[in-house]
Formats: sequence, structure tokens, C-alpha cells
Amino acid sequence: MNSIEESIFSRFASGEIRPDKIRYEDDDMLAFDDISPKAPTHILILPKKPIQSIAQMEAGDTELIGKMIYRAKVLAEEMGIAESGYRLTINVGKWGGQAVPYLHIHLLGGQPLNEDIEHFSHGE
Ligand code: 5GP
Repeated sequence: MNSIEESIFSRFASGEIRPDKIRYEDDDMLAFDDISPKAPTHILILPKKPIQSIAQMEAGDTELIGKMIYRAKVLAEEMGIAESGYRLTINVGKWGGQAVPYLHIHLLGGQPLNEDIEHFSHGE
């Protein structure tokens, strides 16, 4: 894994570059389609504040992370997957399968999600 500063998501969060399909943005967060979707809906939600992973989360970040989870719920409704159900995933560190060292929540849905969905095994 490269450093948080070098990660592509840092550059998305700062606005230096823009992901292709933005689903939501405000002062706190950015939500956009995953470039390699593992389900019909696969959105990533990241904080504009640089946080490498949940392992680096501080007590003062609880409101921010709560807002991100709330936004995932609203996006699920907007994408039409709320009723059928969906999954929110946060990979943490190497063994947790985190490939990009910048905190992000995965919103996955639109099909039944197996436990062995590829998403869980693509870590380095
Ligand atoms: P992680 O394994 O770190 O939890 O998930 C990283 C996710 O970011 C993967 O699902 C991968 O497809 C996605 N991703 C990596 N690089 C890019 C990119 O440049 N743009 C977008 N939209 N998604 C990316």
C-alpha cells in the first residue's frame, strides 16, 4: 500500500481530480461509483478530511463517520436498492483487504451478495 498522501482518493477528496460518476458531494464527503464494480450498485463514500483507515479514526470523527453511514442509507434509497437490501463494508488494513489507504465505505447492492464476493479477497 502506498501512503495516504499518494493515494488516488486523496486527490479525489481535495478536488485535484474528479472521479467519473459522482453520486453525492458536500463539505464533509464525496460519493462516487467504484471503477471496478463488484455489484450492480457499487458506490464508495469517502471523507474530505484525510483519514487513512478506521484504524486511524479519532473520537472526534464519530459525527463525520455517522454522516457518511447516513448518506449511504440515503444513496441506497436513491439507487432503488434499499428494499431488497445492501451491504456497507469498510476494509481496514492489509489483512482486512484495504487496497487504497484512504478511508472509504463501500455501498454494494442490486443483487444477492455472497459472503465470498470477490470484494473480500482482492487485498494485497
Ligand atoms: P479497498 O480494497 O481499499 O476497500 O477498495 C478500494 C476500491 O477502490 C476498489 O473497489 C477499487 O475498485 C476502487 N478504486 C481503486 N482505484 C479507483 C479509482 O481510481 N477510481 C474509482 N472510482 N475507484 C477506484
